[in-house]
Amino acid sequence: MSLWRPDRVYFEPAAKETIIGERVKKYCVDNDIPILETTSHNQVRDLPGKDDKAKYAAAKKTLIVGMKRSLKLDVCRPSADYQFSLMTNCPGTCEYCYLFTTQGKKPFVRVYANLSELYETIDEYIKKKLPHATVFEAASTGDPLGVEHITGSLRDTIIHFGTLPRGKLRVVTKYANVDSLLDIPHNNHTRFRFSINSNYVIKNFEHNVSNLWDRLRAAGKMAQAGYPLGFIIAPIILHDNWKQEYKELIDELYNHIGAKKSMITFELIQHRFTMNAKNIIEERYPNSKLEMDPEKRDKKWGKYGRTKYVYPKDDALEAKEYITSLIKEKFPHGHIQYFT
Ligand code: SF4
Repeated sequence: MSLWRPDRVYFEPAAKETIIGERVKKYCVDNDIPILETTSHNQVRDLPGKDDKAKYAAAKKTLIVGMKRSLKLDVCRPSADYQFSLMTNCPGTCEYCYLFTTQGKKPFVRVYANLSELYETIDEYIKKKLPHATVFEAASTGDPLGVEHITGSLRDTIIHFGTLPRGKLRVVTKYANVDSLLDIPHNNHTRFRFSINSNYVIKNFEHNVSNLWDRLRAAGKMAQAGYPLGFIIAPIILHDNWKQEYKELIDELYNHIGAKKSMITFELIQHRFTMNAKNIIEERYPNSKLEMDPEKRDKKWGKYGRTKYVYPKDDALEAKEYITSLIKEKFPHGHIQYFT
């Protein structure tokens, strides 16, 4: 898969003279991409396209380089203590994407340039929890590897965490362009996770992200470079033949990375949806094969009182036990952190 290339790049004035801003400007000049200015992403109104659908597509091809205004970090359970954003939204277009309900009609890909302020904030949060380590998630609001070839900010962040004795970083991606991360002093402080799934899910619902084989090859390279490794299987979808396909997935994973003695983590997340997400997905992908029938699901109360629809208890338990047994068989040193 070729790396994402935006059609246009907007800069907020303060972001232009930063290190990240300079890198993005160079990328634009090298790739002949128009450079524009805006005071804020809310002010970008002149997108090409006649209707909402065309404007949505244009926004997905628009990069905005800005400054992260609020540096208060949100709690991020169950995968970490806190989350922070190097970027918001994503060049990918997965039909089940968890960002749909927050990104509105114009899902600009936004990257943040005030990294030194972000690092100061992270250092402060770590100090508060000493002598315990603090774990941060860097991929809750988007997939930072999707824009790494433009910003280099994930590389900077991994190097920063490498210097923090009590700071741990977690990243997750569906991309495979890891080469710029292989030779840096990560000091085992970054757990790099790849999001993987059955062939059916990847083929039908994941678009503009790396294919499974590239992700698995990238995982092999990261293991070789000494990174603690993890895999997120999400969303687990109980489609026809799901047992066979998830078995093939774990077999392929084993074929690519082998039975590592080092601890590999697994996070298992069953498919869920809110009614709001269902409406947006059905409007955006009218022919989607994504099953979202509330009658076939159990209700679960989520954050802020939102109702999520998950698989019925017995089906979820079956999926949990089955996928756990596949993992245990091939990766006896693997650690399943949660099934949710
Ligand atoms: S890669 Fe992740 S963040 Fe990007 S579109 Fe797909 S699900 Fe959403």
